[in-house]
Amino acid sequence: MHNSRYWILKKLTILLQWFFIAWLFCSGWVLAADVEGIRVWRAPDHTRLVLDLSSQVSFKYFTLANPHRVVIDIENTTLKTKLKAVDLSSSPIKKIRGAARERNNLRLVLDMDAKVKPNAFLLSANQQYGERLVIDLFDQHAKSSVIKTVPQNNGRRDIIIALDAGHGGEDPGALGPRRIREKTVVLDIARATKKLFDRQPGYRAILIRNGDYYVGLSKRRSIARKHRADFFVSIHADAFKDKRVQGSSVYTLSQSGASSASAKLLADSENRTDLIGGVDLSGKGDVLAGVLLDLSMTATLDSSVKVGREILREIKKISKLHKSTVEHAGFAVLKSPDIPSVLVETGFISNPKEAKRLSTKQHQGKVANAIFDGTIAYFNRYALAGTRVHWMNNGGKTTGGLQVAMSYKIKSGDTLSEVASRFSVSLTKLRRYNGLAGDKIRIGQILKIPPRG
Ligand SMILES: [Zn+2]
Repeated sequence: MHNSRYWILKKLTILLQWFFIAWLFCSGWVLAADVEGIRVWRAPDHTRLVLDLSSQVSFKYFTLANPHRVVIDIENTTLKTKLKAVDLSSSPIKKIRGAARERNNLRLVLDMDAKVKPNAFLLSANQQYGERLVIDLFDQHAKSSVIKTVPQNNGRRDIIIALDAGHGGEDPGALGPRRIREKTVVLDIARATKKLFDRQPGYRAILIRNGDYYVGLSKRRSIARKHRADFFVSIHADAFKDKRVQGSSVYTLSQSGASSASAKLLADSENRTDLIGGVDLSGKGDVLAGVLLDLSMTATLDSSVKVGREILREIKKISKLHKSTVEHAGFAVLKSPDIPSVLVETGFISNPKEAKRLSTKQHQGKVANAIFDGTIAYFNRYALAGTRVHWMNNGGKTTGGLQVAMSYKIKSGDTLSEVASRFSVSLTKLRRYNGLAGDKIRIGQILKIPPRG
């Protein structure tokens, strides 16, 4: 039949295609790229310059002194964007100059206000952007990163809560309808949560990220450690291809795989964002360090699950749950051996209704309250000796002449026995202390919590 002739023709076509592709490569035609846009993100310790590319490029970079400059040479690339339009305010870059060089190469020169240490790398496309060349310019005279040590306050130090808004900068996180972005929503929630903690005697909160810039996952942990955080909570919003999926979940780190398939999936996608940082991704593979890390992690894992349960209990009151128990997954951001850590997925930003709710100040406030209340409930039971909270819970008497008593405001869904168990006091004692005849309580009622012991 015609079969053999057909195959010969087919083979010939494939061969021709290969020749054509090879010719394109040799002529350099396929490799030519355009710089289509430039963005600048300013973080507390560095400036991130991002070039939007039409395709991947080869590049080199170096610095020059007197005056300080950073030079970036990009092969076979044309500048297709206006350098003057780039917003350089709040960055140490005074000016960006660009010129074509021999063989269609592009040279960009950054005139700097101060000396910086550059690090450049390529980023592949994500949900929001295409191929990119990232140039991080690390400040050389960064403000001293010495952290004020927590004032000891006569053995009554504040409990430090590290609030970590996920993603940021080039990494938008999950994208919802109408330009609702995870990175923005979670920063708003983190800021609202900080306000609550800062108002609560015995607590102080720090924000791991306080702006629209990216912080690497291991850097997030080290910031928390530098501030001597007692608890680390990473705030996120989920996305799923099925837009109907909704609900919040709370995760802690697992050492041996994820506790469910969806936890595994989520951990993979959240961890992948670490590639965004481009630096210091993997833990250095020292066996002994690994063993020690695992040992100390087991201790904090238990605390993490306990705080996680308290937060989940609070979130249940304001939102549907995606998972009704604290899930375990291998999140890189939670791998702090010495700090109990949880990750809260506040809802599905891919669900239009939930996305809309998450972007309102009102719901953000509710989520903040849930994180706050859950955390407080945990520390009321397990605060470490040396903290003001521990001192108050153990019959702390006076501070500056004022009587300090713990109190708790009843919220919808609370029962008296639940409140008693949360604060580790007996039901009888709690009743007697508040002059209650029975177990009836009402929303908004303030209960005095008797000291333990
Ligand atoms: Zn996230």
